[in-house]
Amino acid sequence: MEEFDYYEILEIQRTASGEEIKKAYRKMALKYHPDRNPDDKDAEEKFKKINEAYQVLSDQEKRQIYDTYGKKGLESSGFGFNDMESIFDVFNSVFGSGFGGFGGRASRNRNEKYPRDLAIELQLSFEEAIFGCNKEIELRYKDACKECNGTGAKDGKVTTCSVCKGSGRETFTQGFMTFAQTCSKCHGSGQMVAENCDKCKGRGYTEERETIEIKIPEGVDNHNQIRIQEKGNKMPNGVRGDLYVEIFVKEDAHFIRHHNDIYLEVPVFFTLVMLGGNMKIPALTKELDLKIPIGVKDKQQFVFYGEGVKNVNSGKRGNFIAVVSITYPQKLDDKQRAMLSELHKSFGYEESKPIACHEGLMDKIKNWFKS
Ligand SMILES: [Zn+2]
Ligand SMILES: [Zn+2]
Repeated sequence: MEEFDYYEILEIQRTASGEEIKKAYRKMALKYHPDRNPDDKDAEEKFKKINEAYQVLSDQEKRQIYDTYGKKGLESSGFGFNDMESIFDVFNSVFGSGFGGFGGRASRNRNEKYPRDLAIELQLSFEEAIFGCNKEIELRYKDACKECNGTGAKDGKVTTCSVCKGSGRETFTQGFMTFAQTCSKCHGSGQMVAENCDKCKGRGYTEERETIEIKIPEGVDNHNQIRIQEKGNKMPNGVRGDLYVEIFVKEDAHFIRHHNDIYLEVPVFFTLVMLGGNMKIPALTKELDLKIPIGVKDKQQFVFYGEGVKNVNSGKRGNFIAVVSITYPQKLDDKQRAMLSELHKSFGYEESKPIACHEGLMDKIKNWFKS
């Protein structure tokens, strides 16, 4: 068995909390789920590892054994891995059985050739996510092959699976341990087609296209999921599964979103540090008045409460935060230089002499050498 670190595979710290582990697992499991990466062996391997890591780290007892003795410790404590069936149980326990078909195999009817639910990713612009929108998308879903009624078998003829001999499970031995997993050939049904259906080549479905409009609510953020009922795959019995749309949001060049708060870097010219002043800054729906106080600091933040993004669940608005960035002129012309020198001198300093800013401190240092 290949060695890998559970914390590394989930990209988390060793001190991660249970909630952080779950969050990391959610993200990684969705990304590498076999249904999303068909025929990608690397993704499947990664998915297995992610599930194994989560199975251990989400369990207090197992995590403690792993932290202290490593994987060897777990093996000698009798915890086995690699059972695909249990991997999908893990997945469903996190995502809920509502995710059924997409999580797939554990809850899928064994005779069904494809999952009921469909998952897609949808990329939105910054504005579309913040203000909501209607998105028209072309959906590709599976419909049961009319020729074989979704069985994939010519004339509906099936025989006993040649790999598992009808048991639906395959076993293999590794060291002293025997593992069992769902038969890779028949996906646990114990049956295989005698001869492939001509129309669908044995797949059991045909690919269909449909244009649908999705209403994106105001305030959605990365990894939010929208469930659209009965827009998933069509099953042989006519029932249609659900569509799950996972949101990805593009970044904006100026506004930075953090949950429901918006940050904006506001350039403040250096003269304003001493003069103070009012400026208009662009926010999400209107301009805001920002009062720059005399003596403003670089990176100083000014919060406008309730001017952020509307929370997609609660409807409560986040804040808008202006972050000061003091800017300086790249160069001065002769007149500006003369004026600045004038200003400098007006404070009682001479142009060429360095300023001794702490006279008392200088005397103190000189005294060190005297003693
Ligand atoms: Zn089989
Ligand atoms: Zn067919």
